[in-house]
Amino acid sequence: MSEKDMDKIVSLCKRRGFIFPSSEIYGGLASTWDYGPLGAEFKRNLKDSWWKAVVHKRDDIEGLDAAILMHPKTWKASGHVDGFTDALVDCKNCKKRFRIDHLPGEGDFKKCPECKADINLKETPPRLFNLMLKTFLGPVEDEGAVSYLRPETAQGIFVNFLNVINSRHRKLPFGIAQIGKSFRNEITPGNFTFRTREFEQMEIEYFVSPEDSQQWYEKWVQERFEWYLNLGIKKEKLRLRVHAQNELAHYAKACTDIEYLFPFGWSELEGIANRGDFDLKQHADLSAKDLTYFDQAKNKRFLPYVIEPSGGVDRAALAFLVDAYREEEVNGTIRIVLGLDKKLIPYKVAVLPLLKNRADIVEMAKKICDSLKNKTVVKYDDTAAIGKLYRRQDEIGTLYCVTVDVQSLEDNRVTVRERDSMQQERIETSILEKYLTDKLA
Ligand code: ATP
Repeated sequence: MSEKDMDKIVSLCKRRGFIFPSSEIYGGLASTWDYGPLGAEFKRNLKDSWWKAVVHKRDDIEGLDAAILMHPKTWKASGHVDGFTDALVDCKNCKKRFRIDHLPGEGDFKKCPECKADINLKETPPRLFNLMLKTFLGPVEDEGAVSYLRPETAQGIFVNFLNVINSRHRKLPFGIAQIGKSFRNEITPGNFTFRTREFEQMEIEYFVSPEDSQQWYEKWVQERFEWYLNLGIKKEKLRLRVHAQNELAHYAKACTDIEYLFPFGWSELEGIANRGDFDLKQHADLSAKDLTYFDQAKNKRFLPYVIEPSGGVDRAALAFLVDAYREEEVNGTIRIVLGLDKKLIPYKVAVLPLLKNRADIVEMAKKICDSLKNKTVVKYDDTAAIGKLYRRQDEIGTLYCVTVDVQSLEDNRVTVRERDSMQQERIETSILEKYLTDKLA
């Protein structure tokens, strides 16, 4: 896939109701996107798959849904007030501002990625810029009312460490998982939904004893890598990138990124880090609360280490969309298919009447559609002729199309068409529900 192909994804997302530019009737707001009817379903399925894998299918992880607004001291403790900064450089020629780590060039001599002018860092030294979005709580907009929109969901987990241990009687190792919105005042957002100022994260903080931390870190890297593969991402498009020692935050023991080969290059989907006891230690210091854990078997008290798999919902969604998009030639025309895994597709089944002007066919189709609603996500559609309807369903990834025709009225059989093979089978309506639920299981 090339850059040009990225445009095809953006266009499909708009055309079929996955992702729209935000506030579009007002000309849009840069790098802000709204998930449309299909995108909302797809993103929910993605988050559900994650939640199922890391919370429901495990005995060692609890879920959490913490507030976006947190006590301002949280961000002092986490290091975000003092350290969550990007070094930015202004291009004197085009007046645009860039992250220094996004500038091509060597040493002090960089090139502007927009206008290609030379940038000499000795003449225009980088300046630090805090990425947190500031706001004010209450009626008075003064320093005492300053609050922040959280730049990550992780801190909501750390401040609830004691609450979860005490309410759930947890012993190490155990984890807390959370999905939610985060905000960063990114200077160079872009590449569609890849880097935005408002985004969703899915994060786990997995607490372990220090001596087990390396082993758990390796386990989590593997586990998270496999999650993407199990949902159908092509193996050759996914890789692990181990951070070099000089890339690591001062407290981090190790970090590995899971990267996907987007049309714009290999880019991070998720990071897995061994953060040591940094976060709990910081919160213990600033809150003056004892956040140590007493290990009865070892008869000792210590601050647990934490392994953090931290992924982006929107980035994962974009990777799955890019990965699933394909064009095929069928009888001299191009068929676009969104070959998403059945767990992720917005609609599992579409029920289509062959003739929308025949009341008896429409009635039968609607009845079949209603009867399937308790079992799966199914949509009735009669907005075009059958050929067009099939193509539209292919473009949104619907796995099965059920078509009711004149013959169906007589023999109680319908045509079931599968998305990828386009194979059609006549199935008796009495066994249709079982046929589809078995296939979709
Ligand atoms: P990057 O280097 O790309 O800015 P990061 O290393 O700062 O990312 P983390 O702080 O580790 O990212 O955040 C964890 C995950 O949250 C990322 O792997 C990514 O999937 C997601 N994420 C972070 N920033 C954004 C953003 N601006 N837009 C969309 N997703 C984001």
